[in-house]
Amino acid sequence: MKCIYCNNETNLTISDIIPAALTGAKLRKKFVCRAHNSFTNDHYENTMIRQLDIFRNRIGLTERDGDPVRFSADLTIGEYTSEKNISISDNKSIMDTDRLFRMKDKQGRTVLVGPKDKLLKISGATADKITDLPFADISISSKTDIRDLFISETVLHAIAKIAYEWHCYVNDVEEYQEDTYGLITSYILDPEQSNTLVNIVNDAYVTMLADRFSRTGSNMLFEYNDSDGNVYVIFCLWNVIAYKVKVGMHSEKPSMAHCPIAYFYHADGSQNGTMFGVYGDFHVNASPPNAGISELYLEIKSRLSKLGERDLSREYLQNCIAKLSKKLPAYQEHTISIADLLDFEHEDRIIPVYILEQIYTHRDEYMPSEDFHRNMQRILQTDDRFVLTKETTKGIVERYINMDREGSFTTLLSKAIEFFETTCGGRLDI
Ligand SMILES: [Zn+2]
Repeated sequence: MKCIYCNNETNLTISDIIPAALTGAKLRKKFVCRAHNSFTNDHYENTMIRQLDIFRNRIGLTERDGDPVRFSADLTIGEYTSEKNISISDNKSIMDTDRLFRMKDKQGRTVLVGPKDKLLKISGATADKITDLPFADISISSKTDIRDLFISETVLHAIAKIAYEWHCYVNDVEEYQEDTYGLITSYILDPEQSNTLVNIVNDAYVTMLADRFSRTGSNMLFEYNDSDGNVYVIFCLWNVIAYKVKVGMHSEKPSMAHCPIAYFYHADGSQNGTMFGVYGDFHVNASPPNAGISELYLEIKSRLSKLGERDLSREYLQNCIAKLSKKLPAYQEHTISIADLLDFEHEDRIIPVYILEQIYTHRDEYMPSEDFHRNMQRILQTDDRFVLTKETTKGIVERYINMDREGSFTTLLSKAIEFFETTCGGRLDI
């Protein structure tokens, strides 16, 4: 085994081929030397990842320790607006920490925000000067230019790195081959070099393929040998934008049929692949980054805005139940509250519990002979994805709090989980 950038045989380390921050599915191999691994992390990937933090959070990806992803955002609470970007992970996290931060009121006066006991420690602070914030009226926004997010030189270098390492991974390339990979590696290893190898895919076939098999936050990768003599890797990030990367050359003779395999890496950690047959000259249409992003601007924006929606897959609910189950005994023993159990601001608690409740409530309509997905669409009267508006969530939370007071919530939840696991095939075999 040698480093795929320099053929160094010592000091090899494990590379995250798709950075772990961009997918729950681990894809790693020990084929990059320490120096080159930190080089690509420090120069490209870390920057790319920080810029995508708000979307990583929406997809439900977590940090390595399992904590929700924090991101910088502009914050509005009622009439108050944040003075500068504040680092948060969800609404609850705003008041989680002991820190104080500044906001401005309508008149432009600065107010200090934080937990009451902390505020009272400031000299001159008295209880009558402190008001409660309208926490029901929070909005979090982040100004993002999609050119910075997706086609800056830094990001394009990161994409080239992912494509090259992925190509080496699936083809068992375990050394640096200058003749074949000279161009891509010289681009990856030189932050000053302008991009000529990465383009933006604008191709109905690729869109169709990604739409068919992607879930919220899935990454899709496949490669093909083009009749122009090059190998191209197609990398579709979160089903929002797809890149076409020229990774090297091939010496295959033109053939009538190809059977590329598209690999899908999902946010929940699972992965799968699908083979697709293409005949004749197969090309993926792509445009240079600036032109590509202009052509696809509206589509990319709209796909980005949908990243907070949740799949109606059995796996999604199973994952959520697994997390919920860890806290359930403590809730039933009354050592934690319903707020702790459901983490009211966390979409991946409220949404799945709501879906489970709906399945259970409409259990007479559930048809085990039909597939789970079709049942979901019918019961929830929606399409592939599901999202709750702020108002609806508020109503649901209030209803659950009332049920909690009456002591009926725990019964409902247990029955709903049991129905899902027995009748809907949701029991995890572990
Ligand atoms: Zn190296």
